[in-house]
Amino acid sequence: MIKKITDWMLSYLYLGAEGDKNSETNQQLFVSNLFSVIGYSLTFILSISAAFGGEVVLSISLFTASFLFFVSHQIHRLKKIKNTYKISTRIIFTCLLFLMLYLVFSGGHGNTGPLWIYILPPVAFFFGGLRRGLANIGLFVIIVSVMLFYPGEVLLNTSYTHEFKSRLIYSFLTVTLLFGFYEFSRQKFISFMQKLSDQFEQQAMQDPLTSLPNRRAMQDYLDHEHNRAQRSKVNMSLLLCDIDHFKGVNDLYGHEGGDYVLKNLSELFTSTLRKQDKISRWGGEEFLFLLPETNEHDAHFLADKIRLKVAGHTFKYAGKEFNITLSIGVKEVTKNISVDKAISAADKFLYQAKENGRNCTMPESKILTHNKISNNNIQSK
Ligand code: GH3
Ligand code: MG
Ligand code: MG
Repeated sequence: MIKKITDWMLSYLYLGAEGDKNSETNQQLFVSNLFSVIGYSLTFILSISAAFGGEVVLSISLFTASFLFFVSHQIHRLKKIKNTYKISTRIIFTCLLFLMLYLVFSGGHGNTGPLWIYILPPVAFFFGGLRRGLANIGLFVIIVSVMLFYPGEVLLNTSYTHEFKSRLIYSFLTVTLLFGFYEFSRQKFISFMQKLSDQFEQQAMQDPLTSLPNRRAMQDYLDHEHNRAQRSKVNMSLLLCDIDHFKGVNDLYGHEGGDYVLKNLSELFTSTLRKQDKISRWGGEEFLFLLPETNEHDAHFLADKIRLKVAGHTFKYAGKEFNITLSIGVKEVTKNISVDKAISAADKFLYQAKENGRNCTMPESKILTHNKISNNNIQSK
């Protein structure tokens, strides 16, 4: 029973929320809904109380405010209206602003109305941010000051002592300043955290040695591109590329020499590929290329272009010059084949390329032809 009530209350306060409830937007929505609910309940009770006290105008004003707070919450039910959060917060703030002006004007119950104006600064900053919050509060202070200090109190329906008026404005400005400072620090902190989180995210997706996307980042690209290919029905291809006898490079030039080759090779790859292609460091001296909207024939052509470019490139390290070669497995990701299966196939073709003597590219069709010839030879024997 208690759980049911709690669930109902939460769904009432999360009215209009979409997706993850803990997201920043939904948390803001929760606070604005909470504000609406407290706003309409409180102003409704106060309006009844004012009605019983014979304060008709105050009662009607409070009731109108209560109705508007209610609308600011229920508006989220209207699915046809976009960005109801923005509309809702504008209603809440405007309503609150007029209510506060009215309370200052009338004095409210027993001349205590102005005490409520301290609600404004936190609400203005929360809903409008620092700049808009300051602008709204500034406007409010100007209007209230004119109302309070206009000669003869003709803009007021009540009377306050001069000390009360000046202290009210001073204390209100102090509270605004404190909340403004708090909001400023909060925004600074949020942008700092955002930068830090972007930096971490980038680091988590990047290979530190070559600065290429790492395996994790490539997995995301692959899933995204695979989904796109399935929808558009235009296949993508994969190239799995491995440096030949890389252990020998390490043995001859040390680990640092090997690292130098990996870095330079990555730059060579990047300058050879087309804009739409993605390349990642898949593991040690293995690189995986993703070629969107590319069939096996074109992928094979590109693989050979890369292979020849690398074979013709002279690496210079520690005063010595040397060349390296690549072996590449080529796999078109045809309909109904998963990304994992396509990578395993490319790995198999890469192995075939190594078996074939290295410094070569191996597409699926070449293996199929090779197998056919072998079978025919066996049959004819
Ligand atoms: P194959 O032609 O069969 O591919 O021979 P290989 O020597 O390239 O392959 P093997 O798997 O025997 O050796 C790979 C070597 O790559 C061994 C490993 O030390 C080296 N390696 C892997 N990652 C790095 C790295 O980040 N830096 C350096 N310098 N070497 C690396
Ligand atoms: Mg390897
Ligand atoms: Mg190798």
